[in-house]
Amino acid sequence: MRPHRPTAAFPEHIESLYARFPFDRSVADDPISVVRPLATDRRRAEIAGVFASTLSIGNTAAIRGAIGRLAESVEGDVGRLVDPRWADRRSERLRAFRHRWIRGEQLEYLAGRLTDYYREEASLETAFLRGLEARGFAGGIDRLARTLRGTEDRSRVPPRGYSALFPSPLEPAGSPAKRLTLFVRWMVRDRYPDLGCWRRVPTGELRIPLDQHVHWIAYHLGLTGRRARSWATVEEVSEALRRIDPIDPAKFDFVLCHTGISGDCPKEREIDVCGPCSVRPDCRLWRGRTVAA
Ligand code: SF4
Repeated sequence: MRPHRPTAAFPEHIESLYARFPFDRSVADDPISVVRPLATDRRRAEIAGVFASTLSIGNTAAIRGAIGRLAESVEGDVGRLVDPRWADRRSERLRAFRHRWIRGEQLEYLAGRLTDYYREEASLETAFLRGLEARGFAGGIDRLARTLRGTEDRSRVPPRGYSALFPSPLEPAGSPAKRLTLFVRWMVRDRYPDLGCWRRVPTGELRIPLDQHVHWIAYHLGLTGRRARSWATVEEVSEALRRIDPIDPAKFDFVLCHTGISGDCPKEREIDVCGPCSVRPDCRLWRGRTVAA
């Protein structure tokens, strides 16, 4: 069977989806809505972003709740997550923290890693850029993952399961590294709703944070033929979007993701919902079909 591909008019269709998208409705449901008020300066934006993206597992309400509980543990100032004077209080308050399989002791270890890192460097952008320059975008994510894991620091043993929170796309499993890729999107893009506090990484370099919603719609629009979520799929989808907007390919991520989360896309052929969908002519489920007048 021939692989499914979007129509020649797909660039106009997806730009229309983007232009008409109700950002404010979906931002309220997104983890970024909890991150933005915590990002009172560039350092705090980065700290809030690292923790929030690490916690971005499961449904968005639970993620927003987890970020809120973490912020409460430092009384709303995420700068205290890397403040050694807060180490004892923070550790005590995080002891009972749970979000899915993430435990408070893992977040406490992450706080320690960041505290150590900020003694040497002003921003995680430096670590990302070193990896980017050496091995491209995947290299940047790999460098971030290794920095946060702290595998070069043999003086501390991380808690059980900690290192697995930061997979690298350069490892044999070829992880899509969705959460770190999302963190980098938040840091680099300066268009709403992202935070734009890293200035040295070009937006054209960004890759798509491939969650299940983005993967479903990317596959059904023919942006990839891969059924598995992997780094190879991330590259394929990102390249397809870069052909539409070479300067800012990741701008479509929020829209594709929340089209799925919001129920705007039912993930099956439903005429009442699919009828007004801008990308319906490109959708695999509607190939060769038309909507009756
Ligand atoms: S046509 Fe329907 S199933 Fe296809 S992407 Fe649009 S809303 Fe989703």
